[in-house]
Amino acid sequence: METQAAYAELGLHPGATDAQLKASWRRLVAAWHPDRNAAADAGSRMQSINKAYQHIRQLRDGGEPDADDNEAAEAAPAPEAASAEPEAPHKTHVRTVHLSLEDAILGCTRTLHGHVTHTCSACVGKGQRVLAKACATCHGSGAVHKPALFGWMWNQEECADCGGDGRLRGPCDVCAGSGEQTVAYRRRVRFPSGVREGHVLSVPAANHGDMELGLELQVHIDSHPFFTLDGEGVLRCEMPVNGYAWMAGRWVEVPTPDGLQQMRLNRDALVYRLGGQGFPAAPRGPRGDYMVRVVPVFPTQMDAAQEALLDQLIASSSKAAEADKTQAMGQWKRSMKRWNTSQKRPARDE
Ligand SMILES: [Zn+2]
Ligand SMILES: [Zn+2]
Repeated sequence: METQAAYAELGLHPGATDAQLKASWRRLVAAWHPDRNAAADAGSRMQSINKAYQHIRQLRDGGEPDADDNEAAEAAPAPEAASAEPEAPHKTHVRTVHLSLEDAILGCTRTLHGHVTHTCSACVGKGQRVLAKACATCHGSGAVHKPALFGWMWNQEECADCGGDGRLRGPCDVCAGSGEQTVAYRRRVRFPSGVREGHVLSVPAANHGDMELGLELQVHIDSHPFFTLDGEGVLRCEMPVNGYAWMAGRWVEVPTPDGLQQMRLNRDALVYRLGGQGFPAAPRGPRGDYMVRVVPVFPTQMDAAQEALLDQLIASSSKAAEADKTQAMGQWKRSMKRWNTSQKRPARDE
């Protein structure tokens, strides 16, 4: 059998570890064993899976395939595969991932670390393993005799130390008798742009230690110092601006998810729409609009120099307004002057 084909048969790349090799083989054997798989080609698939596994084992061990593995492969399902846990232990680990609003908008890659505790696969959580020796309590018979009826008779009872099978037990060396194993995982995960609070992302299972570990990630978006996402998914920001700069239509710097940006103020507008710079309407979708509301701020107290500047501004703008016949300010001034003159007529006798 071709080596490349053997790896392909097991769904692995040649760099796979021994543990991955074994886990993959067990999983496939459990899935394709003709006792459990009714597919017409289950038997032949089983054969190719075992052949591929033996081929790689032989290659890696540099000689004869491991007798134990060989036997198990022929007699598959393997002992582990036949038990209640047919595959390498498989677990989905649920955890929360905190993203900033910018990360949620633009998408991001995170490396997640953690630990997961699972039932020891070597002893199936019992904390002990059966040894090749006979049980010391019952000397392998599986039964113990206990005096009954004041010692006149003997009752035979099942040996409690071996559970009646007569075999010696010792603490499991894989889990040191605890029945549990802890594996550390480290996964690089890509979060698409547009993920929202409460979204759940499933990360396919991968091998960690001797375990197939999948991740279920619940997205939590951290609150932001100035960006908010409203109920309709529109990104908003409210920022104070210098009232005079606003009147003068000056440029100001506004924060956007992509960084600072220049924006021109307009004294007729308090709300500005920055198209395509907001939150994506759907994951991986185009970005919506970003709405910036400006709050013009005027000083509450002014010094003498500022007062003088304002006086100048008022004087020059009044002059210009009065000169312009079409302006409301000029019209108002003229009609007020006419009215005032009419009030000064001498009093008439009745
Ligand atoms: Zn015993
Ligand atoms: Zn164990």
